[in-house]
Amino acid sequence: MIRLTIPGRKAIEVENLILDMNGTIAMDGMVSGGVVERVKKLAKSLKIYVLTAGTQGRIDEIKEILQVEVHQINRRREAEQKAEFLRKVDPERTITIGNGTNDSLMLKQAALGIGIIGEEGISREALLSADVIVKDPKDALDLLLKPKRLQATLRK
Ligand SMILES: [Mg+2]
Repeated sequence: MIRLTIPGRKAIEVENLILDMNGTIAMDGMVSGGVVERVKKLAKSLKIYVLTAGTQGRIDEIKEILQVEVHQINRRREAEQKAEFLRKVDPERTITIGNGTNDSLMLKQAALGIGIIGEEGISREALLSADVIVKDPKDALDLLLKPKRLQATLRK
């Protein structure tokens, strides 16, 4: 558990982290630089899930590299499927990270949503649904490893 206290907001006891895969922590199927070691560090205090609409081969590879649960979603109503996954996990205790329109509902409905610009860019819907936007996944994961950065950005 990571306790996030941001002045002007309700304290969040974060138990779970949901990561979009493509465009967020992976680019062209390859895990982005700096992600593996940060995910491993965070996995000591959080339950981490990766969501993807990608193919099975990649899923096994990502599972192996990151040592986290990877869940495949279908190629329809992706935003709703991701939001449904979040609801099952517990939105009040979950942080989500994503970049696409299909991430917008989970970004909005989580205790905290972090948008990634990355190399693929962030969709307008995802941008408007996130609490904070950062340039790449390393920076997003560092916000959780160094929560003072989040406080500085989000306090009122
Ligand atoms: Mg994406």
